[in-house]
Amino acid sequence: MFATNHVLSGVVIGRAFERRPLTAFAVGLASHLVLDMVPHWGCEMKDPEGRNRFLAYARRDGMLGLAVTVGATVAVHPRARVATLAAIAGATLLDADKPALYFWGRNPFPRAVRRLHTWAQNEAPERLPNEIVFGASCAIADAVIAARGRRRPDAS
Ligand SMILES: [Zn+2]
Repeated sequence: MFATNHVLSGVVIGRAFERRPLTAFAVGLASHLVLDMVPHWGCEMKDPEGRNRFLAYARRDGMLGLAVTVGATVAVHPRARVATLAAIAGATLLDADKPALYFWGRNPFPRAVRRLHTWAQNEAPERLPNEIVFGASCAIADAVIAARGRRRPDAS
């Protein structure tokens, strides 16, 4: 699943557990595996062309994910900020293996974690529309959260 989608769903989790950042982090972490089980896009990594395509998408996805993280952190109610960041950190942690492998040639996670992460994958090259619809639904939920957060008085 795109990192951006993990970030977008992290915002929803951060709002749900806005007073409990540690819980938000843990739920974010679990949500990563759940989201990876949702049918999503992935490309053939065995041939160089597939790997190049993956890298091109991964770069854009990384930048977009970072932009959404910053935007969401600013947009949510200040009270939910720490939990939102914690949830996003939890939701994206497992995908740190990709940049780590790319830059340092090493997967930082223990074998059991790697096996679980691989097992959860439900990807296929033709599923880009699934991934986009899923991301768009999360983005709408995030926009509602941000708009409500702004209207909510601090005292509530
Ligand atoms: Zn993943």
